[in-house]
Amino acid sequence: MRDGLTEVFNRRKFQEEGAREVARATRHDRPLSLVMFDIDHFKVVNDTYGHLCGDSVLKQIAARVSDLVRPEQIFARVGGEEFAVLCPETDQDGATKMAQRIRDVFASKPFDCGTVSIVVTCSFGIAGVVAKTRGLEDLVADADRALYRAKNLGRDRIETEPEEAAEA
Ligand code: GH3
Ligand code: MG
Ligand code: MG
Repeated sequence: MRDGLTEVFNRRKFQEEGAREVARATRHDRPLSLVMFDIDHFKVVNDTYGHLCGDSVLKQIAARVSDLVRPEQIFARVGGEEFAVLCPETDQDGATKMAQRIRDVFASKPFDCGTVSIVVTCSFGIAGVVAKTRGLEDLVADADRALYRAKNLGRDRIETEPEEAAEA
């Protein structure tokens, strides 16, 4: 249920809880948003400071985000250096605020590894349950698309899917 390195929920737990939350949100017509984020240029952190420092950064990232998430939200490590926060009863505005808080807590101070300080940013993709959402896979695919856009537009930024919602 938990990831061995960071102790936050693992991918499997995210998928179980996420499937249930998407079903609930669509059945009862309730808002549900997903914030996905991926560390920017994390390979450079490993290459520069070593894999152990990389692991330490992952742990510190998870700890900082854990302090921000509410009990009803599901925070998971869904890939090597990719995380997700599933936010029930939250619309795209609320999810954007959550992503901003996470981004701010990374920017507020560097991560420590021994005597070195490492500045790390992340790119964020946000999506919400909409009429066409059939399951968790659709929600993840939408958030992934936004995240991909955030990477392509220069990283260290928050993008939403559909794109128009951000400008509204
Ligand atoms: P981008 O900004 O495009 O996301 O660049 P990136 O370097 O973060 O992305 P890429 O997918 O090229 O590399 C991901 C890196 O994350 C490579 C891999 O070694 C590292 N990584 C994945 N899981 C772990 C882990 O558990 N520990 C450490 N130290 N590194 C990890
Ligand atoms: Mg990355
Ligand atoms: Mg990645």
